[in-house]
Amino acid sequence: PACREGGMATGERCEIGMKIDRKCKRMEEVMEKRFAELKALVAEIHDLKAALALLEWDQQVYLPAGAENGRAAQIETLSGVIHAKSTAAKLGKLIETLEPADYPEDSTERALLTRLRRDFAKKNKVPAKLVSQLARTTAEAHAAWVRARQAADYTLFAPHLARIVELKRRYAELFAPSASIYDPLLDDYEPGMTAAELDRIFEPLRREQAGLVRQLADRPADDAFLHWKFNGASQLAFSREVVKKLGYDFRRGRLDLTVHPFTTSFGLSDVRITTAVHAELPVSCLLSTVHECGHALYEQGIDPALDRTPLAEGASYAFHESQSRLWENQVARSLPFWRFFYPAFQKRFPKQLGEVPLERFYRAVNRVVPSEIRTEADEATYNLHIMLRYELELGLLEGRIPASELAGHWNAKMQEYLGVTPRNDTVGVLQDIHWSLGDFGYFPTYALGNLIGAEIWNAACRTVPGLEEELARGNFRVLLEFLRRRVHCHGAKYEPPVLLEKITGRRSIDSEQFLTYLKGKYSAL
Ligand code: ZN
Repeated sequence: PACREGGMATGERCEIGMKIDRKCKRMEEVMEKRFAELKALVAEIHDLKAALALLEWDQQVYLPAGAENGRAAQIETLSGVIHAKSTAAKLGKLIETLEPADYPEDSTERALLTRLRRDFAKKNKVPAKLVSQLARTTAEAHAAWVRARQAADYTLFAPHLARIVELKRRYAELFAPSASIYDPLLDDYEPGMTAAELDRIFEPLRREQAGLVRQLADRPADDAFLHWKFNGASQLAFSREVVKKLGYDFRRGRLDLTVHPFTTSFGLSDVRITTAVHAELPVSCLLSTVHECGHALYEQGIDPALDRTPLAEGASYAFHESQSRLWENQVARSLPFWRFFYPAFQKRFPKQLGEVPLERFYRAVNRVVPSEIRTEADEATYNLHIMLRYELELGLLEGRIPASELAGHWNAKMQEYLGVTPRNDTVGVLQDIHWSLGDFGYFPTYALGNLIGAEIWNAACRTVPGLEEELARGNFRVLLEFLRRRVHCHGAKYEPPVLLEKITGRRSIDSEQFLTYLKGKYSAL
């Protein structure tokens, strides 16, 4: 029988057994119903993930020491529920029957379906056995990493890392063929990015940045005043004042103290940040807070219509980092920023800074010091820390570097790129948590974030008249409004290259604009 409403049969059959075509009213109703069902399932998963994130936030911020085991059990249970719901056959069937191409090209529906298809297909390629092996192996490896750090002895961690690398190789092979074993891992953080593309981007960056650092590292220091004691409560109060002025919405978020600063979100109506205070590093608290504020401004600016879907997040890890880096570096390490904020900062610390003029303070804040630790690195050295990690993890995965020999390779590359040899493994190869958690392919997104941040900053300078003068007057709104309109509101609706093209006019990332920014900044210092 031909469909009553549509007339023209296409050979498909609708739910009541009629042949239908695209214009069939009955089919449209069915699709609408299915789409609503899908959205409800997706929203349920989203809410459960938000509850899990809240448990984890609480674990970092408030949890009493004796509550650790109970919390671990709660997190495991909830994670299991989320995994079951995200891989359920019912969800898969809905995703399969709703065709993205049936929705208008630029529509949210199409973007959502494309994204759900991609995530579901990826998840379903991974056997449950490998998932649980990875979970168990990384839990043990993380504990071993903590012990190895305490003992400053990489050899305690090496056998665990070898097992993780083996499992990650097996994971990547599920997505064969890929040009590089690294590509499927990278794709988990930066959709569509490849090792070949990274090599193209990183090659000139490595060369030029290492050269720049060699030039800058010899400049004499004039920053003794930054190493006196600065009251922690005053630092925190100042950081709070700054992020409020930058546009962070405290009605939909809060700022707390943790050992390692981070941003987390429980849906678009609650995006929280944390920071850390060090009495002898007075700008570190401010820069960390502004960094996390940059992540949070991104999430607070996403179109509320996307809430409770997987599109209610940043376009990618690199895009997220571009926002935190832009506010941290192009804004909070800039002269216009300090023209506005320095008098207030000086007033809080008259003993330490009362006699220090703005220009001297600004030069001290931007001093280039090649150091062992990535998270303390300045703008000139930061990417070198990242490229070193990328090369080493690629070597591990390709089998060129045995896990047992990683520390030696680490120290050699640190010397080559930064002229620094770590004092011990804790401040060397063991400094980052990522590998102990199995996060391979994550590090490059930090450097890509710096590059994208510089490109977006240039786009803002071209679009907003007198941007730097506005910032020096304390008008941070103009920048936030540009980012809201061009970056934030879209959430994850567009693939990263598409979004980049919408903002900057160019699809591919390159290091040129970042390097021009960096050279310009340091030649003026
Ligand atoms: Zn970040």
